[in-house]
Amino acid sequence: MRDTLVLNASFEPLSTVTLNRAVVLVLQSKAVVEQAHPELRMRGAAVDIPAPRVIRLRRYVRVPFRRQAPWSRRGVLVRDGHRCAYCGRRATTVDHVVPRSHGGGDTWLNTVASCAEDNHRKADRTPEQAGMPLLRQPFEPTPADAMLLTLGRDDLGALPDWLTRSAA
Ligand SMILES: [Zn+2]
Repeated sequence: MRDTLVLNASFEPLSTVTLNRAVVLVLQSKAVVEQAHPELRMRGAAVDIPAPRVIRLRRYVRVPFRRQAPWSRRGVLVRDGHRCAYCGRRATTVDHVVPRSHGGGDTWLNTVASCAEDNHRKADRTPEQAGMPLLRQPFEPTPADAMLLTLGRDDLGALPDWLTRSAA
């Protein structure tokens, strides 16, 4: 099932929850629906509401400052718009700029979206060694950006502009 984005009362992205959890928060009046899926409804014995895509908490929640966005393969693909960092075509894999065998890690700055052919061609080499310059430099999304990234590209495109302005 799809995830629902949860905003703080101040409109900052906080987290994602399951659709069912989001409905419970709305029914308990802990959150309001900011945006719903256009063609999806949640129906139950006493319920018939549009499936929430974005909810906002009624009360402000204080959250500890998150310095780093959690890394994920999916996040890298969405950050890079599913475009290969080496040729610009559609990317389905994640390439380590500095290969893991050379000590490169699973980090935002060391990973880029890559098509399968380029990933295979680059193999166990750095871009310099392979003669495959990066079309763009990887960057570290903010925690709020990463939250949006977890929703995936389709949902991201359907979110209001003001919410996604800072996301990749
Ligand atoms: Zn490519």
